[in-house]
Amino acid sequence: MAREGFLDYLTAHRRGASEKREIESPEEMAKEIKKVAKLFGAELVGITYFDERWVYTHKYSRRSEDEQEMDLPEGLTSAIVVCHEMDHALLETVPSALSGTATGVGYSQDAVTLLALAQYIQNLGYKAVASMNDTALSIPLAIKAGLGEYGRHGLLITPEMGPRLRIGKVFTDLPLVHDSPVRFGVKEFCDICRKCSDACPPTAIPDGEPSEVTYNRSNIPGISKWTVDGEKCFDFWAKQVTDCSICLRVCPYSRDYPAPLNRFRIKLMGTFLRRFLLWLDNFCGGGDRKPPSWWWFDSYTK
Ligand code: SF4
Ligand code: SF4
Repeated sequence: MAREGFLDYLTAHRRGASEKREIESPEEMAKEIKKVAKLFGAELVGITYFDERWVYTHKYSRRSEDEQEMDLPEGLTSAIVVCHEMDHALLETVPSALSGTATGVGYSQDAVTLLALAQYIQNLGYKAVASMNDTALSIPLAIKAGLGEYGRHGLLITPEMGPRLRIGKVFTDLPLVHDSPVRFGVKEFCDICRKCSDACPPTAIPDGEPSEVTYNRSNIPGISKWTVDGEKCFDFWAKQVTDCSICLRVCPYSRDYPAPLNRFRIKLMGTFLRRFLLWLDNFCGGGDRKPPSWWWFDSYTK
């Protein structure tokens, strides 16, 4: 069976081992999986339990042009969530046709890492389903896997690279210990910051408190959170005939500093200094758009 495009999970090309390797320690196995995922290109890896609340009930088939039951194997117990960083300089040119490259490259890296990781697990004799945007929501799984917090713009914000990332996951029955969610002050920072909601052209991002409001069938009912009107957002994309991601560009968590400095800055954003950090970001022109010509001729040459 071949993958049916963007809406389907990735198909493994080889069968795995017929016998399961005995796993004595799920802790050690989790360490091994994280190491291997990083070897295959993942920048961040977290593990959580397989939670059917985030799995789609149906998928859309492009071949038959109708909906079909989700056909995941029985007995899945864990989701291994991996992230790849999106290029910061490209994202500074958002919105532009050029900036879409950051997304495309992220997806391509995701596919390589996820397929290799799923094959590794299958070779240990266990089930593994590699998934990108299909099959289940990635952001709740990433939060449960301890990779970051939820931002006002509805995206995962990590301590390492903010929201500049693509997320993929592998569902498996391999025995693994699970990570716990982390808090580093994103909610409190978003409470005082409105850069994404102010900058969103179709006003798809809420500027108030988290709530249970839903706008259309693309939103999940019954959860109190900042809910983005995804249909308004995508309508804007379609009209301008390219990606948008302005919310990603303007977010103060998106800046690109050397890793130790960025870690320290993001740590401070979670303290009583958050108002000062927000002021500093605005003062320094954080998130201002650069033209695509800047990327071609001036970026990386400083
Ligand atoms: S991608 Fe653009 S339109 Fe969509 S929520 Fe972000 S800023 Fe708004
Ligand atoms: S732009 Fe500001 S409000 Fe929006 S997600 Fe980023 S930190 Fe939160």
